[in-house]
Amino acid sequence: MDYKKLADLLFPDVKITLEDLEKRYPERKLPEGAIVTRFAPSPTGFLHIGSVFTCLVADNFAKKSNGVFILRIEDTDQNRKIQDGVKLIIQGLNRYHINFDEGVDENGKDYGDYGTYTQSQRKPIYMAMAKYLVSIGKAYPCFCDEETSQRDKAIQEANKELIGYYGSYAHCRDLTLEEVEANLKAGKKFAIRLRCESNADHKIIVEDAIRGTLKLSDNFNDVVILKRDFLPPYNFAHACDDHFMRVNLVIRGDEYIPSIAEHLQIFKALGFEPIKYAHVAPMQKMEGNSKRKISKRKDPEANVTFYLEEGYPVDGVREYLMNVANSNFEEWRKQNQDADIDDFVVTTEKMSKSGALFDLPKLNDVSKNVISKFDAQKVYDLCLEWAEQYDKPFAEILKANKDYAIKVFSIERGTQKPRKDIAKWNETKGAFGYFFKDLFNPKSVDEYEFNFEKFDRETIKKVIEKYIGVYQQEAENSVWFGKIKELGVEFGFANDMKVYKANPQDYVGHYGDVASILRVAITTKANTPDLFQICTLLGYDEVVSRLKKAVELL
Ligand code: GLU
Ligand code: ZN
Repeated sequence: MDYKKLADLLFPDVKITLEDLEKRYPERKLPEGAIVTRFAPSPTGFLHIGSVFTCLVADNFAKKSNGVFILRIEDTDQNRKIQDGVKLIIQGLNRYHINFDEGVDENGKDYGDYGTYTQSQRKPIYMAMAKYLVSIGKAYPCFCDEETSQRDKAIQEANKELIGYYGSYAHCRDLTLEEVEANLKAGKKFAIRLRCESNADHKIIVEDAIRGTLKLSDNFNDVVILKRDFLPPYNFAHACDDHFMRVNLVIRGDEYIPSIAEHLQIFKALGFEPIKYAHVAPMQKMEGNSKRKISKRKDPEANVTFYLEEGYPVDGVREYLMNVANSNFEEWRKQNQDADIDDFVVTTEKMSKSGALFDLPKLNDVSKNVISKFDAQKVYDLCLEWAEQYDKPFAEILKANKDYAIKVFSIERGTQKPRKDIAKWNETKGAFGYFFKDLFNPKSVDEYEFNFEKFDRETIKKVIEKYIGVYQQEAENSVWFGKIKELGVEFGFANDMKVYKANPQDYVGHYGDVASILRVAITTKANTPDLFQICTLLGYDEVVSRLKKAVELL
Protein backbone atom coordinates (compact mmCIF):
# COMPACT_ATOMS: atom_id res chain seq x y z
CA MET A 1 0.00 0.00 0.00
CA ASP A 2 1.26 3.44 -0.88
CA TYR A 3 0.46 5.25 2.37
CA LYS A 4 1.81 8.52 1.11
CA LYS A 5 -0.65 8.39 -1.74
CA LEU A 6 -3.46 7.47 0.62
CA ALA A 7 -2.64 10.46 2.81
CA ASP A 8 -2.71 12.84 -0.16
CA LEU A 9 -5.95 11.35 -1.31
CA LEU A 10 -7.59 12.00 2.05
CA PHE A 11 -6.07 15.39 2.79
CA PRO A 12 -5.16 16.95 -0.57
CA ASP A 13 -5.09 20.47 0.88
CA VAL A 14 -3.05 19.78 3.98
CA LYS A 15 0.49 20.95 3.36
CA ILE A 16 1.84 21.36 6.89
CA THR A 17 4.34 18.67 7.82
CA LEU A 18 5.59 17.28 11.10
CA GLU A 19 8.92 19.03 10.47
CA ASP A 20 7.15 22.35 10.00
CA LEU A 21 5.44 21.98 13.36
CA GLU A 22 8.55 20.84 15.19
CA LYS A 23 10.28 23.94 13.88
CA ARG A 24 7.34 26.22 14.64
CA TYR A 25 7.18 24.98 18.23
CA PRO A 26 10.79 24.43 19.27
CA GLU A 27 11.94 22.84 22.51
CA ARG A 28 11.81 25.42 25.26
CA LYS A 29 15.05 26.76 26.63
CA LEU A 30 14.40 26.45 30.33
CA PRO A 31 16.52 25.66 33.36
CA GLU A 32 16.97 22.02 34.35
CA GLY A 33 13.90 20.72 36.17
CA ALA A 34 11.60 23.52 34.99
CA ILE A 35 8.01 22.30 34.90
CA VAL A 36 5.86 23.22 31.92
CA THR A 37 2.26 22.42 32.68
CA ARG A 38 -1.19 23.56 31.73
CA PHE A 39 -4.78 23.97 32.80
CA ALA A 40 -7.09 22.88 30.02
CA PRO A 41 -10.72 23.69 30.80
CA SER A 42 -13.66 23.33 28.51
CA PRO A 43 -15.40 26.70 28.21
CA THR A 44 -18.47 25.73 30.19
CA GLY A 45 -18.22 28.79 32.43
CA PHE A 46 -18.42 26.57 35.47
CA LEU A 47 -15.37 26.76 37.68
CA HIS A 48 -15.16 23.87 40.12
CA ILE A 49 -13.32 24.43 43.38
CA GLY A 50 -11.31 21.33 42.44
CA SER A 51 -10.08 23.18 39.37
CA VAL A 52 -8.91 26.10 41.49
CA PHE A 53 -7.16 23.57 43.68
CA THR A 54 -5.44 21.91 40.71
CA CYS A 55 -4.46 25.29 39.30
CA LEU A 56 -2.93 26.43 42.58
CA VAL A 57 -0.87 23.27 42.65
CA ALA A 58 0.12 23.51 38.98
CA ASP A 59 0.94 27.20 39.30
CA ASN A 60 3.13 26.46 42.29
CA PHE A 61 5.03 23.73 40.39
CA ALA A 62 5.62 26.04 37.45
CA LYS A 63 6.64 29.07 39.51
CA LYS A 64 8.90 27.19 41.90
CA SER A 65 10.76 25.53 39.05
CA ASN A 66 10.98 28.62 36.81
CA GLY A 67 8.74 26.81 34.39
CA VAL A 68 5.63 27.78 32.47
CA PHE A 69 1.93 27.59 33.27
CA ILE A 70 -0.34 27.53 30.24
CA LEU A 71 -4.07 28.05 29.85
CA ARG A 72 -5.48 26.05 26.98
CA ILE A 73 -9.12 26.15 26.02
CA GLU A 74 -10.51 22.76 25.06
CA ASP A 75 -13.53 23.73 23.04
CA THR A 76 -13.75 20.99 20.44
CA ASP A 77 -16.96 19.73 21.98
CA GLN A 78 -19.20 22.50 20.75
CA ASN A 79 -22.14 21.26 22.82
CA ARG A 80 -20.48 22.17 26.08
CA LYS A 81 -19.61 25.69 25.05
CA ILE A 82 -21.40 28.63 26.59
CA GLN A 83 -21.30 32.32 25.86
CA ASP A 84 -18.54 33.97 27.92
CA GLY A 85 -17.48 30.55 29.20
CA VAL A 86 -13.79 31.37 28.84
CA LYS A 87 -14.17 34.79 30.38
CA LEU A 88 -15.95 33.43 33.44
CA ILE A 89 -13.29 30.81 34.02
CA ILE A 90 -10.42 33.27 33.63
CA GLN A 91 -12.07 35.79 35.93
CA GLY A 92 -12.72 33.08 38.50
CA LEU A 93 -9.09 32.00 38.43
CA ASN A 94 -7.72 35.52 38.51
CA ARG A 95 -9.64 36.09 41.70
CA TYR A 96 -7.54 33.33 43.24
CA HIS A 97 -4.37 35.02 41.95
CA ILE A 98 -3.89 32.38 39.30
CA ASN A 99 -2.29 33.97 36.28
CA PHE A 100 -0.91 32.13 33.32
CA ASP A 101 2.35 32.66 31.51
CA GLU A 102 0.77 31.72 28.19
CA GLY A 103 -2.75 31.19 27.02
CA VAL A 104 -5.77 33.20 26.05
CA ASP A 105 -7.10 36.30 27.72
CA GLU A 106 -10.67 37.11 28.65
CA ASN A 107 -11.43 38.09 25.08
CA GLY A 108 -10.02 34.90 23.67
CA LYS A 109 -6.83 36.59 22.47
CA ASP A 110 -3.63 34.56 22.55
CA TYR A 111 -0.47 35.48 24.41
CA GLY A 112 2.67 33.34 24.31
CA ASP A 113 4.78 31.72 21.59
CA TYR A 114 3.17 28.30 21.47
CA GLY A 115 -0.34 29.20 20.38
CA THR A 116 -2.92 29.29 19.37
CA TYR A 117 -4.20 28.16 22.72
CA THR A 118 -7.78 27.48 21.67
CA GLN A 119 -8.28 23.99 20.35
CA SER A 120 -10.98 24.80 17.84
CA GLN A 121 -8.42 27.03 16.11
CA ARG A 122 -5.82 24.28 15.96
CA LYS A 123 -7.60 22.20 13.35
CA PRO A 124 -4.76 22.60 10.79
CA ILE A 125 -2.34 21.08 13.32
CA TYR A 126 -4.55 18.08 14.05
CA MET A 127 -5.22 17.50 10.38
CA ALA A 128 -1.53 17.73 9.55
CA MET A 129 -0.66 15.21 12.21
CA ALA A 130 -3.46 12.87 11.21
CA LYS A 131 -2.24 13.06 7.63
CA TYR A 132 1.27 12.34 8.84
CA LEU A 133 0.11 9.20 10.65
CA VAL A 134 -1.75 8.02 7.56
CA SER A 135 1.33 8.67 5.43
CA ILE A 136 3.44 6.35 7.59
CA GLY A 137 0.78 3.65 7.78
CA LYS A 138 -0.10 4.17 11.45
CA ALA A 139 -3.58 5.51 10.84
CA TYR A 140 -6.28 4.96 8.27
CA PRO A 141 -9.64 6.30 7.18
CA CYS A 142 -12.78 4.70 8.55
CA PHE A 143 -15.97 5.12 6.55
CA CYS A 144 -18.20 3.21 8.94
CA ASP A 145 -21.38 4.95 9.93
CA GLU A 146 -23.10 5.09 13.27
CA GLU A 147 -25.36 2.22 12.25
CA THR A 148 -22.41 -0.13 11.71
CA SER A 149 -20.86 0.63 15.04
CA GLN A 150 -24.20 0.18 16.82
CA ARG A 151 -24.67 -3.17 15.13
CA ASP A 152 -21.15 -4.32 16.02
CA LYS A 153 -21.63 -3.24 19.58
CA ALA A 154 -24.83 -5.25 19.86
CA ILE A 155 -23.08 -8.34 18.48
CA GLN A 156 -20.14 -7.86 20.83
CA GLU A 157 -22.46 -7.52 23.79
CA ALA A 158 -24.43 -10.61 22.81
CA ASN A 159 -21.22 -12.62 22.39
CA LYS A 160 -19.72 -11.20 25.59
CA GLU A 161 -16.78 -9.90 23.56
CA LEU A 162 -14.80 -6.75 24.20
CA ILE A 163 -16.55 -3.68 22.88
CA GLY A 164 -14.59 -1.80 20.28
CA TYR A 165 -13.17 -1.46 16.80
CA TYR A 166 -10.62 -4.26 16.50
CA GLY A 167 -9.94 -7.56 14.77
CA SER A 168 -12.76 -8.57 12.46
CA TYR A 169 -14.72 -5.51 13.62
CA ALA A 170 -12.09 -3.16 12.22
CA HIS A 171 -13.79 -3.11 8.85
CA CYS A 172 -11.75 -0.36 7.27
CA ARG A 173 -8.32 -1.34 8.55
CA ASP A 174 -7.26 -2.96 5.30
CA LEU A 175 -9.19 -1.08 2.65
CA THR A 176 -7.30 -0.85 -0.60
CA LEU A 177 -6.46 2.46 -2.20
CA GLU A 178 -9.13 1.74 -4.81
CA GLU A 179 -11.78 1.10 -2.16
CA VAL A 180 -10.90 4.33 -0.40
CA GLU A 181 -11.03 6.20 -3.67
CA ALA A 182 -14.44 4.74 -4.48
CA ASN A 183 -15.77 5.73 -1.07
CA LEU A 184 -14.49 9.25 -1.50
CA LYS A 185 -16.03 9.48 -4.95
CA ALA A 186 -19.32 8.32 -3.49
CA GLY A 187 -19.08 11.29 -1.15
CA LYS A 188 -18.70 9.18 2.00
CA LYS A 189 -17.34 10.92 5.06
CA PHE A 190 -14.52 9.43 7.01
CA ALA A 191 -12.91 9.55 10.41
CA ILE A 192 -9.28 8.65 11.04
CA ARG A 193 -8.40 5.74 13.30
CA LEU A 194 -5.10 4.77 14.81
CA ARG A 195 -3.87 1.32 13.81
CA CYS A 196 -3.48 -0.38 17.19
CA GLU A 197 -0.46 -2.63 17.53
CA SER A 198 -1.29 -4.09 20.92
CA ASN A 199 -3.99 -6.28 22.44
CA ALA A 200 -6.18 -6.59 25.53
CA ASP A 201 -3.91 -9.13 27.25
CA HIS A 202 -0.96 -6.81 27.24
CA LYS A 203 -0.25 -4.74 30.35
CA ILE A 204 1.63 -1.48 30.62
CA ILE A 205 3.44 0.08 33.56
CA VAL A 206 3.24 3.84 34.03
CA GLU A 207 4.88 6.00 36.67
CA ASP A 208 2.44 8.66 37.79
CA ALA A 209 3.82 11.59 39.77
CA ILE A 210 0.99 11.37 42.31
CA ARG A 211 -0.25 7.81 42.06
CA GLY A 212 3.12 6.10 41.79
CA THR A 213 3.40 2.93 39.69
CA LEU A 214 0.27 2.06 37.75
CA LYS A 215 -0.26 -1.25 35.99
CA LEU A 216 -2.87 -0.90 33.29
CA SER A 217 -4.45 -2.96 30.55
CA ASP A 218 -3.20 -1.89 27.17
CA ASN A 219 -5.48 -0.43 24.55
CA PHE A 220 -6.70 -2.90 21.93
CA ASN A 221 -8.96 -0.58 20.01
CA ASP A 222 -8.33 1.25 16.77
CA VAL A 223 -9.36 4.54 18.37
CA VAL A 224 -10.67 7.50 16.45
CA ILE A 225 -8.14 10.33 16.40
CA LEU A 226 -9.94 12.63 14.00
CA LYS A 227 -13.70 12.79 13.79
CA ARG A 228 -15.70 13.20 10.62
CA ASP A 229 -15.68 16.97 11.16
CA PHE A 230 -11.85 16.76 11.32
CA LEU A 231 -11.81 17.87 14.91
CA PRO A 232 -9.98 15.52 17.25
CA PRO A 233 -11.41 13.78 20.28
CA TYR A 234 -9.62 14.48 23.55
CA ASN A 235 -6.96 11.80 23.02
CA PHE A 236 -5.40 13.20 19.87
CA ALA A 237 -5.72 16.85 20.86
CA HIS A 238 -3.98 16.01 24.12
CA ALA A 239 -1.04 14.38 22.29
CA CYS A 240 -0.62 17.11 19.67
CA ASP A 241 -1.15 20.04 22.00
CA ASP A 242 0.90 18.90 24.94
CA HIS A 243 3.73 17.89 22.63
CA PHE A 244 3.81 21.08 20.57
CA MET A 245 3.31 23.29 23.60
CA ARG A 246 6.31 21.45 25.04
CA VAL A 247 4.48 20.52 28.20
CA ASN A 248 6.44 18.16 30.42
CA LEU A 249 3.96 17.47 33.21
CA VAL A 250 0.29 16.80 32.49
CA ILE A 251 -1.72 17.48 35.63
CA ARG A 252 -5.29 16.34 35.14
CA GLY A 253 -8.20 14.52 36.73
CA ASP A 254 -7.84 10.83 37.47
CA GLU A 255 -10.81 9.97 35.26
CA TYR A 256 -8.19 9.90 32.49
CA ILE A 257 -6.20 7.05 34.03
CA PRO A 258 -8.04 4.34 32.05
CA SER A 259 -7.15 6.16 28.82
CA ILE A 260 -3.43 6.46 29.52
CA ALA A 261 -2.66 3.37 27.43
CA GLU A 262 -4.50 4.83 24.46
CA HIS A 263 -2.73 8.15 24.89
CA LEU A 264 0.70 6.55 25.06
CA GLN A 265 0.00 4.62 21.86
CA ILE A 266 -0.81 7.87 20.10
CA PHE A 267 2.38 9.49 21.38
CA LYS A 268 4.38 6.49 20.21
CA ALA A 269 2.80 6.43 16.77
CA LEU A 270 3.56 10.12 16.36
CA GLY A 271 7.14 9.55 17.47
CA PHE A 272 6.65 11.89 20.43
CA GLU A 273 8.44 11.49 23.74
CA PRO A 274 5.81 10.47 26.34
CA ILE A 275 5.01 13.15 28.92
CA LYS A 276 4.93 12.61 32.66
CA TYR A 277 1.47 12.49 34.21
CA ALA A 278 0.17 13.63 37.58
CA HIS A 279 -3.39 12.38 38.02
CA VAL A 280 -5.30 14.28 40.68
CA ALA A 281 -8.12 12.48 42.45
CA PRO A 282 -11.33 14.46 42.75
CA MET A 283 -11.98 16.31 45.96
CA GLN A 284 -13.98 14.33 48.47
CA LYS A 285 -16.40 15.23 51.20
CA MET A 286 -17.84 13.26 54.09
CA GLU A 287 -21.43 12.19 53.87
CA GLY A 288 -22.32 10.40 57.06
CA ASN A 289 -19.43 8.04 57.58
CA SER A 290 -18.37 7.69 54.01
CA LYS A 291 -16.42 9.80 51.59
CA ARG A 292 -17.78 10.81 48.25
CA LYS A 293 -16.75 13.05 45.40
CA ILE A 294 -17.89 16.68 45.65
CA SER A 295 -20.59 16.89 43.06
CA LYS A 296 -21.27 19.77 40.75
CA ARG A 297 -24.97 18.97 40.91
CA LYS A 298 -25.45 18.25 44.60
CA ASP A 299 -22.97 20.45 46.43
CA PRO A 300 -23.10 24.23 46.25
CA GLU A 301 -19.51 24.34 47.49
CA ALA A 302 -18.38 22.70 44.25
CA ASN A 303 -18.83 26.00 42.43
CA VAL A 304 -16.37 28.82 43.15
CA THR A 305 -19.20 31.33 43.14
CA PHE A 306 -20.28 29.81 46.45
CA TYR A 307 -17.16 31.20 48.15
CA LEU A 308 -17.71 34.56 46.60
CA GLU A 309 -21.32 34.79 47.70
CA GLU A 310 -20.58 33.64 51.22
CA GLY A 311 -17.76 36.13 51.39
CA TYR A 312 -14.80 33.89 52.02
CA PRO A 313 -11.71 35.99 51.48
CA VAL A 314 -9.55 34.72 48.65
CA ASP A 315 -6.60 34.39 51.02
CA GLY A 316 -8.64 32.15 53.30
CA VAL A 317 -9.65 29.81 50.51
CA ARG A 318 -6.13 29.73 49.11
CA GLU A 319 -4.68 28.99 52.51
CA TYR A 320 -7.21 26.23 53.01
CA LEU A 321 -6.58 24.65 49.61
CA MET A 322 -2.88 24.53 50.41
CA ASN A 323 -3.77 22.63 53.56
CA VAL A 324 -5.69 20.22 51.39
CA ALA A 325 -2.92 19.96 48.79
CA ASN A 326 -0.03 18.95 50.98
CA SER A 327 -0.07 17.21 54.33
CA ASN A 328 3.03 19.13 55.46
CA PHE A 329 1.53 22.58 54.85
CA GLU A 330 0.08 22.94 58.34
CA GLU A 331 3.46 22.29 59.93
CA TRP A 332 5.11 24.72 57.52
CA ARG A 333 2.56 27.38 58.45
CA LYS A 334 3.26 26.89 62.15
CA GLN A 335 6.93 27.45 61.49
CA ASN A 336 6.35 30.36 59.09
CA GLN A 337 3.39 32.21 60.56
CA ASP A 338 3.75 35.38 58.55
CA ALA A 339 5.26 34.00 55.39
CA ASP A 340 3.57 34.55 52.06
CA ILE A 341 1.65 31.46 51.04
CA ASP A 342 3.51 31.50 47.71
CA ASP A 343 6.71 30.68 49.57
CA PHE A 344 5.43 27.19 50.26
CA VAL A 345 6.67 24.54 47.84
CA VAL A 346 3.99 22.02 46.86
CA THR A 347 5.18 18.53 46.00
CA THR A 348 3.37 15.70 44.24
CA GLU A 349 4.66 13.20 46.81
CA LYS A 350 2.70 14.90 49.56
CA MET A 351 -0.55 14.91 47.61
CA SER A 352 -3.38 12.55 48.42
CA LYS A 353 -3.67 9.53 46.14
CA SER A 354 -7.28 8.86 46.96
CA GLY A 355 -8.68 12.37 46.89
CA ALA A 356 -8.19 15.20 49.31
CA LEU A 357 -10.91 15.67 51.86
CA PHE A 358 -12.63 19.00 51.70
CA ASP A 359 -14.53 20.13 54.75
CA LEU A 360 -16.21 23.42 55.39
CA PRO A 361 -15.68 23.58 59.17
CA LYS A 362 -11.95 23.30 58.57
CA LEU A 363 -12.16 25.96 55.87
CA ASN A 364 -13.95 28.19 58.37
CA ASP A 365 -11.21 27.69 60.94
CA VAL A 366 -8.48 28.48 58.46
CA SER A 367 -10.36 31.47 57.14
CA LYS A 368 -10.97 32.85 60.64
CA ASN A 369 -7.31 32.63 61.27
CA VAL A 370 -6.47 34.39 58.04
CA ILE A 371 -8.98 37.20 58.69
CA SER A 372 -7.72 37.62 62.24
CA LYS A 373 -4.37 38.64 60.78
CA PHE A 374 -5.80 41.30 58.45
CA ASP A 375 -5.60 44.88 59.63
CA ALA A 376 -8.85 46.76 60.21
CA GLN A 377 -8.61 48.69 56.96
CA LYS A 378 -8.34 45.47 54.99
CA VAL A 379 -11.29 43.95 56.84
CA TYR A 380 -13.25 47.08 56.02
CA ASP A 381 -12.28 47.13 52.35
CA LEU A 382 -12.94 43.46 51.70
CA CYS A 383 -16.14 43.38 53.69
CA LEU A 384 -17.42 46.44 51.86
CA GLU A 385 -16.49 44.93 48.51
CA TRP A 386 -18.50 41.86 49.40
CA ALA A 387 -21.44 43.84 50.81
CA GLU A 388 -21.66 46.00 47.68
CA GLN A 389 -22.47 42.80 45.82
CA TYR A 390 -24.45 40.76 48.29
CA ASP A 391 -25.78 43.04 51.06
CA LYS A 392 -26.39 46.54 49.75
CA PRO A 393 -27.98 47.95 52.92
CA PHE A 394 -24.99 46.82 54.96
CA ALA A 395 -22.67 48.35 52.39
CA GLU A 396 -24.47 51.68 52.82
CA ILE A 397 -24.00 51.53 56.57
CA LEU A 398 -20.33 50.69 56.18
CA LYS A 399 -19.82 53.58 53.80
CA ALA A 400 -21.71 56.07 55.95
CA ASN A 401 -19.65 55.08 59.00
CA LYS A 402 -16.28 54.38 57.50
CA ASP A 403 -13.99 55.65 60.28
CA TYR A 404 -16.23 54.24 62.93
CA ALA A 405 -16.36 50.84 61.22
CA ILE A 406 -12.59 50.73 60.98
CA LYS A 407 -12.41 51.47 64.71
CA VAL A 408 -14.88 48.66 65.32
CA PHE A 409 -12.80 46.24 63.30
CA SER A 410 -9.68 47.43 65.13
CA ILE A 411 -10.82 46.12 68.50
CA GLU A 412 -8.39 43.44 69.67
CA ARG A 413 -6.78 43.32 66.26
CA GLY A 414 -3.03 43.41 65.76
CA THR A 415 -2.52 41.87 69.18
CA GLN A 416 -0.73 38.67 70.11
CA LYS A 417 -4.03 36.85 70.24
CA PRO A 418 -6.36 38.58 67.81
CA ARG A 419 -10.04 37.72 67.91
CA LYS A 420 -11.34 35.13 65.47
CA ASP A 421 -14.95 36.23 65.10
CA ILE A 422 -15.60 35.74 61.44
CA ALA A 423 -14.71 33.25 58.73
CA LYS A 424 -16.47 35.06 55.90
CA TRP A 425 -17.94 38.47 55.26
CA ASN A 426 -21.54 37.35 55.52
CA GLU A 427 -20.85 36.80 59.22
CA THR A 428 -19.71 40.36 59.81
CA LYS A 429 -23.14 41.79 60.41
CA GLY A 430 -23.96 39.05 62.88
CA ALA A 431 -20.70 39.52 64.71
CA PHE A 432 -20.38 43.32 64.63
CA GLY A 433 -23.83 44.57 63.71
CA TYR A 434 -24.62 45.72 67.25
CA PHE A 435 -21.96 48.38 66.93
CA PHE A 436 -24.07 50.17 64.40
CA LYS A 437 -27.10 52.11 65.60
CA ASP A 438 -28.97 51.34 62.42
CA LEU A 439 -28.56 47.64 62.97
CA PHE A 440 -29.24 47.58 66.69
CA ASN A 441 -32.93 47.22 67.21
CA PRO A 442 -33.93 44.47 69.62
CA LYS A 443 -37.68 44.08 69.90
CA SER A 444 -37.96 41.52 72.64
CA VAL A 445 -35.96 40.16 75.50
CA ASP A 446 -35.61 36.90 73.58
CA GLU A 447 -33.05 38.61 71.39
CA TYR A 448 -30.75 39.09 74.36
CA GLU A 449 -28.43 36.33 75.49
CA PHE A 450 -29.09 36.85 79.19
CA ASN A 451 -28.38 33.86 81.40
CA PHE A 452 -31.80 33.39 82.95
CA GLU A 453 -30.76 30.06 84.38
CA LYS A 454 -28.38 31.83 86.67
CA PHE A 455 -30.17 35.13 87.34
CA ASP A 456 -33.82 36.02 87.35
CA ARG A 457 -35.21 38.98 85.46
CA GLU A 458 -35.53 41.12 88.56
CA THR A 459 -31.87 40.75 89.51
CA ILE A 460 -30.75 41.53 85.98
CA LYS A 461 -33.02 44.54 85.83
CA LYS A 462 -31.79 45.87 89.19
CA VAL A 463 -28.16 45.60 88.11
CA ILE A 464 -28.80 47.47 84.87
CA GLU A 465 -30.89 50.18 86.51
CA LYS A 466 -28.23 50.76 89.10
CA TYR A 467 -25.61 51.03 86.39
CA ILE A 468 -27.63 53.60 84.48
CA GLY A 469 -27.46 55.72 87.60
CA VAL A 470 -23.69 55.55 87.99
CA TYR A 471 -22.51 55.19 84.38
CA GLN A 472 -20.00 57.69 83.13
CA GLN A 473 -17.82 57.65 80.12
CA GLU A 474 -14.51 56.84 81.74
CA ALA A 475 -11.15 57.39 80.16
CA GLU A 476 -9.53 54.52 82.01
CA ASN A 477 -10.45 50.89 81.73
CA SER A 478 -9.41 50.27 85.36
CA VAL A 479 -11.60 53.07 86.71
CA TRP A 480 -14.52 51.87 84.64
CA PHE A 481 -14.06 48.31 85.76
CA GLY A 482 -13.62 49.33 89.40
CA LYS A 483 -17.14 50.68 89.28
CA ILE A 484 -18.54 47.46 87.85
CA LYS A 485 -16.78 45.54 90.60
CA GLU A 486 -18.62 47.44 93.31
CA LEU A 487 -21.91 47.77 91.43
CA GLY A 488 -23.44 44.45 92.46
CA VAL A 489 -22.31 44.37 96.08
CA GLU A 490 -25.63 45.62 97.40
CA PHE A 491 -27.45 42.88 95.44
CA GLY A 492 -25.23 40.14 96.80
CA PHE A 493 -22.52 39.92 94.12
CA ALA A 494 -18.98 39.42 95.39
CA ASN A 495 -16.41 42.08 94.48
CA ASP A 496 -13.50 39.73 95.12
CA MET A 497 -12.96 36.53 93.22
CA LYS A 498 -10.98 34.74 95.95
CA VAL A 499 -13.59 35.50 98.52
CA TYR A 500 -16.32 34.35 96.18
CA LYS A 501 -14.57 31.10 95.34
CA ALA A 502 -14.05 30.29 99.01
CA ASN A 503 -17.79 30.57 99.75
CA PRO A 504 -19.83 30.74 96.55
CA GLN A 505 -23.00 29.72 98.40
CA ASP A 506 -22.91 33.05 100.24
CA TYR A 507 -23.25 35.07 97.03
CA VAL A 508 -25.65 35.60 94.15
CA GLY A 509 -22.64 35.70 91.86
CA HIS A 510 -19.48 37.72 91.36
CA TYR A 511 -18.48 40.93 89.58
CA GLY A 512 -17.75 38.98 86.37
CA ASP A 513 -21.45 38.13 86.28
CA VAL A 514 -22.28 41.80 86.66
CA ALA A 515 -20.08 42.62 83.69
CA SER A 516 -21.79 39.85 81.70
CA ILE A 517 -25.23 41.25 82.42
CA LEU A 518 -24.12 44.70 81.25
CA ARG A 519 -22.44 43.24 78.19
CA VAL A 520 -25.65 41.55 77.12
CA ALA A 521 -27.71 44.63 77.91
CA ILE A 522 -25.48 46.80 75.73
CA THR A 523 -24.86 44.39 72.86
CA THR A 524 -27.46 41.58 73.25
CA LYS A 525 -24.52 39.19 73.03
CA ALA A 526 -22.86 37.13 75.74
CA ASN A 527 -19.59 36.99 73.89
CA THR A 528 -18.05 40.20 72.56
CA PRO A 529 -14.72 41.94 72.44
CA ASP A 530 -13.64 44.09 75.36
CA LEU A 531 -16.73 45.85 76.76
CA PHE A 532 -14.87 48.98 77.78
CA GLN A 533 -13.76 49.56 74.21
CA ILE A 534 -17.28 48.88 73.00
CA CYS A 535 -18.71 51.49 75.38
CA THR A 536 -16.07 53.98 74.38
CA LEU A 537 -16.94 53.53 70.72
CA LEU A 538 -20.69 53.63 71.24
CA GLY A 539 -20.47 56.78 73.32
CA TYR A 540 -22.32 57.79 76.46
CA ASP A 541 -25.73 58.49 74.99
CA GLU A 542 -25.94 55.27 73.05
CA VAL A 543 -24.79 53.15 75.99
CA VAL A 544 -27.37 54.69 78.30
CA SER A 545 -30.12 54.41 75.74
CA ARG A 546 -29.32 50.73 75.25
CA LEU A 547 -29.29 50.09 78.98
CA LYS A 548 -32.71 51.75 79.22
CA LYS A 549 -33.99 49.73 76.30
CA ALA A 550 -32.94 46.51 78.00
CA VAL A 551 -34.72 47.50 81.20
CA GLU A 552 -37.80 48.35 79.20
CA LEU A 553 -37.86 44.98 77.48
CA LEU A 554 -37.10 42.98 80.63
N1 GLU B 1 -10.60 19.55 28.91
C1 GLU B 1 -10.33 18.52 29.84
C2 GLU B 1 -11.34 18.62 30.97
O1 GLU B 1 -12.07 19.57 31.03
C3 GLU B 1 -8.92 18.68 30.37
C4 GLU B 1 -8.21 17.44 30.67
C5 GLU B 1 -6.70 17.67 30.72
O2 GLU B 1 -6.25 18.45 31.54
O3 GLU B 1 -5.99 17.07 29.93
O4 GLU B 1 -11.46 17.75 31.81
ZN1 ZN C 1 -14.66 1.60 9.47
